[in-house]
Amino acid sequence: MTREECMHKAIEIAKESEQNNGMPIGAILVKDGEIVATGESSVWPDKDPSGHGESNCIRSACKKLNDTDLEGYILYGTLEPCGMCMSTAAWANLSEVYFGAYREDVLGNNYEIDNWSSEEASKNMHTVGGNSMSVTGGILREECTELLKDYVGWEKK
Ligand SMILES: [Zn+2]
Repeated sequence: MTREECMHKAIEIAKESEQNNGMPIGAILVKDGEIVATGESSVWPDKDPSGHGESNCIRSACKKLNDTDLEGYILYGTLEPCGMCMSTAAWANLSEVYFGAYREDVLGNNYEIDNWSSEEASKNMHTVGGNSMSVTGGILREECTELLKDYVGWEKK
């Protein structure tokens, strides 16, 4: 699967997430061209502030694989990952993360860290296994931005 095909799948998950009363944010985890796990945003449905699509995806994969070491797996998310999800990825030993929309593309999206750039942050991060972690944004940027363009539910439900 190409990066764009993977991101298309993450976009589908984001749409499912919204249908399930979550935010329109989705993530998938891939290895050797196969989707190993998916993650929807569950913040509102579960009343769980840590229920982000990316972290949920990693959690689901670890449970399925009965392991916390996801070295060699690649995470795709529709929105720039926050600090918590970046840390979860590092704890899971992921070395590659791709995302679609940048934080600044999405109005109303206020992360906990001002001027946060996951691409910049990744330059100073390494995983629990000691690997560097690369984070690259802009994969299907417009489509991913479109998902959240009219979303107004950041602070409700
Ligand atoms: Zn997050």
